[in-house]
Amino acid sequence: MSPEFRKALEVVRPQSVMEGAGVRLKRSFPTYSLDYPDPFLLFDHFGSDDPADYLKGFPMHPHRGIETVTYMLAGVVSHRDSIGNAGSIRAGDVQWMTSGRGILHEEMPEPYEGKMEGFQLWVNLPARLKMTDPSYQEIVSHSIPEIEIDKGVKIRLIAGSLDGVMGPVVGIAAEPQYLDVSLPVGGVFSHTVEQEHTVLAYLYRGQALFGDEGAPGVTIIKAPAMIVLSEGNLVRVQSKVEPARFLLMSGKPMLEPIVRYGPFVMNTREEIEQTLKDLRNGTFIK
Ligand code: MN
Repeated sequence: MSPEFRKALEVVRPQSVMEGAGVRLKRSFPTYSLDYPDPFLLFDHFGSDDPADYLKGFPMHPHRGIETVTYMLAGVVSHRDSIGNAGSIRAGDVQWMTSGRGILHEEMPEPYEGKMEGFQLWVNLPARLKMTDPSYQEIVSHSIPEIEIDKGVKIRLIAGSLDGVMGPVVGIAAEPQYLDVSLPVGGVFSHTVEQEHTVLAYLYRGQALFGDEGAPGVTIIKAPAMIVLSEGNLVRVQSKVEPARFLLMSGKPMLEPIVRYGPFVMNTREEIEQTLKDLRNGTFIK
């Protein structure tokens, strides 16, 4: 197959929002300009050196019908949930939580000296798995393979495969790839992706060029930016004047209707109404 470079189709500038009990964060979607890059439902970038921006956290709240993926760069988030998990997510760690039919959890950032920073991604569950058992994968930093594909081009492989190495997150319906890529000045990252997958890049440091250099419409993009990549089978990213860091996320579109209501994402209005009824009746957690 000849290489077909994916280039930036849409560049979304994250918007400031307040979430949880009062946490300031930058949201790339859902926003006015980008709603639902199927199968991904939400992407938030949190980070501040002022604890007042995050200490109120996300007290006990429910989820149904989705997966939430938390990846920490710096700082500590303490968590506990209705299926008996409790602990801390620290720098470099990932928590991949499958809510299925219902989970209640708490996500509380701890006071941290310096800038605490991380990301939360929501991945949809297909209709057949929306009411599955809740589950949870905790991936500590040292179990995430770090691969140097070229001089200074480093990849932390959270989910998916690269050079025959598999990331630690497995068994996810959207067949996701989740990579954290660091590029030095002049570094190039080339990676084959599934033709039919939705592919996003969240550039969170520096600047980079996505696609075939010199091709029409391929220009340098500056962080922070959520980049929706066009169709193709090859992702190519090159940093030019400064180092860059970005998350590469790919997933198989579900091609199903969605109805969202806060922390619940189902396929129909009736299922959302049932969810609210379950919460009222105390039957949400089984
Ligand atoms: Mn949550």
